[in-house]
Amino acid sequence: MPIQYSILPVNPQAHLFAVSCIVQDPDPEGQLFKMPAWIPGSYMIRDFAKNIVQLSARSAGKKVQVKKIDKQTWKCAGCKGPLTLTYEVYAWDMSVRSAHLDVTHGYFNGTSVFLQVVGKEDRACVLDISPPNGEGYDEWRVSTAMPYLDSTQNGFGTYQSNDYDDLIDHPVEMGVFEKATFMVKGTPHDIVITGKHRTDMDRLCKDLKKICNHHARFFGQLPPMKRYVFLVMAVGDGYGGLEHRASCSLLCSRDDLPAKGVSEVTEKYRTFLGLCSHEYFHTWNVKRIKPAAFTPYDLGQEVHTRTLWAFEGITSYYDDLSLIRTGLIEPESYLELLAQMITRVIRGKGRFKQTVTDSSFDTWTKFYKQDENAPNSIVSYYTKGAMIALALDLTIRTGSKGKKSLDDVMLVLWRQLGKKGVGVGEYEIEKIANEISGIDLDQFFEQALNSTDDVDLEALLKKFGVEYHVRPAENDKDKGGLLKGSTKNGEVRRPRPVLGVRTASDPAGIKLAHVFDDGAGQLAGLSAGDIVMAMDNIRLQGKGFANCLSRYQAGECVGLHVFRRDELMTFKVILQEAPKDTCELRLIKTPAKAVLARRNDWLHIK
Ligand code: ZN
Repeated sequence: MPIQYSILPVNPQAHLFAVSCIVQDPDPEGQLFKMPAWIPGSYMIRDFAKNIVQLSARSAGKKVQVKKIDKQTWKCAGCKGPLTLTYEVYAWDMSVRSAHLDVTHGYFNGTSVFLQVVGKEDRACVLDISPPNGEGYDEWRVSTAMPYLDSTQNGFGTYQSNDYDDLIDHPVEMGVFEKATFMVKGTPHDIVITGKHRTDMDRLCKDLKKICNHHARFFGQLPPMKRYVFLVMAVGDGYGGLEHRASCSLLCSRDDLPAKGVSEVTEKYRTFLGLCSHEYFHTWNVKRIKPAAFTPYDLGQEVHTRTLWAFEGITSYYDDLSLIRTGLIEPESYLELLAQMITRVIRGKGRFKQTVTDSSFDTWTKFYKQDENAPNSIVSYYTKGAMIALALDLTIRTGSKGKKSLDDVMLVLWRQLGKKGVGVGEYEIEKIANEISGIDLDQFFEQALNSTDDVDLEALLKKFGVEYHVRPAENDKDKGGLLKGSTKNGEVRRPRPVLGVRTASDPAGIKLAHVFDDGAGQLAGLSAGDIVMAMDNIRLQGKGFANCLSRYQAGECVGLHVFRRDELMTFKVILQEAPKDTCELRLIKTPAKAVLARRNDWLHIK
């Protein structure tokens, strides 16, 4: 007897979904219902139960008593059944992690709207999705990768899933959206874009198809699924993605999408393709090749694993690498992305305090709850994880004389574990990498995963015909990579002295978002949250530091007028030299034949 769910956007103006859940044979002792505290892929307690309003239960035409027993669990009084639970969910979070509803569209993740029937999680589920009542919704359609049971009207109708875990892993979009379809290994893939945008859908399909085909070839097959769906929400300014077993939800800026009549891959479009590539790679790496700690997920509380560096880091390595391997971007463009990733890592001193495995373990309270001190105290298991993945790949390639690579390790992880639904143990990746590569990687892993030493990429990259160099940042917008535009007449670019802070715009002045350890600002007593009003008695409003600092030298002292809360304070800051925290990577023009062969093999250049 399947669990029957239904969802109706009952009041889009008030952002309310009405949900019902019918259990034919409730626990006679009293059926428990539980709401997830978090959504897989986003490791933070979000307490989705807080959005439930007006919950009640009925059986045989009579009201059944319901008692809340903790922040996310309800207990119904014992009854024979069938038991019908009804409730409303407030949906007003424009993110890929939750639910959002208004008169223009509805979007939800199952974790935000469907209560789990405790003890019956393995039961098949059916889901009825209805359109809003009233005028103005005639053109609404539904898109989801959840398989439908009956033929549906514009996608509204009945869907089915194997169990609760399956039910909540298929986000649903409803509204008026643009949709295009392409095929990958015989499976339809939809790209669905909601929000105001003007996109070259043909080009997008063509490019995404290349990426999807590449990943499917990489793992030898597409996992079984009826269809795959990219659910995209285009907004003015936004970025985010969340992976699911047969779909992903993406939030992007409408400018990231390719415009008609443009054929180049702009920086923004490259970012969007990288995001799509990342989430699609997760279809294997984390949705199926997944930590043993996540099989099954305990959605009631934090679940700890030290391996997120592999699931997010390796995915972050392959997302951009596949763009060059498919020929969507040029080698120089790929090296720019790589240099920017390395720059993000080496700009944070927290990397000397936290290992990537500790960062994985503590993601719930640190990476996902970053505060003003984050750059000083934590390391990202995404970016440093990607650096480790790169170093591991290059180490295996050189150590095995080009016979093996990280690609082979991933393939074995898929075939031996992911494909069979077996979780990956805490140290299993290291073990498999050792076996597959035929080289002793113990020391590599000890240093990369259990120490805070920097990964030495300079020597490794040189063997692949890539020159590694670090330099000071040229300005606040310098994200890393080769500097664009040449200097006039051999003029030397002079790095500006720095205050050792990162700023955020604030109507009152310049707000200090982060104050870096041992930087000029911290040594002088500045704190995050301070609002700087004037430098050497000249008002700063609307100008920023960069312009003023260009007239100073490192070692000079500047006076700052600062508001901390409502108190005016003055500070004397000794300016420091800009640190060499910006990476640039360059293709070596005429490498030795063996080096060139290694590089071409790595980047799939024919
Ligand atoms: Zn990811």
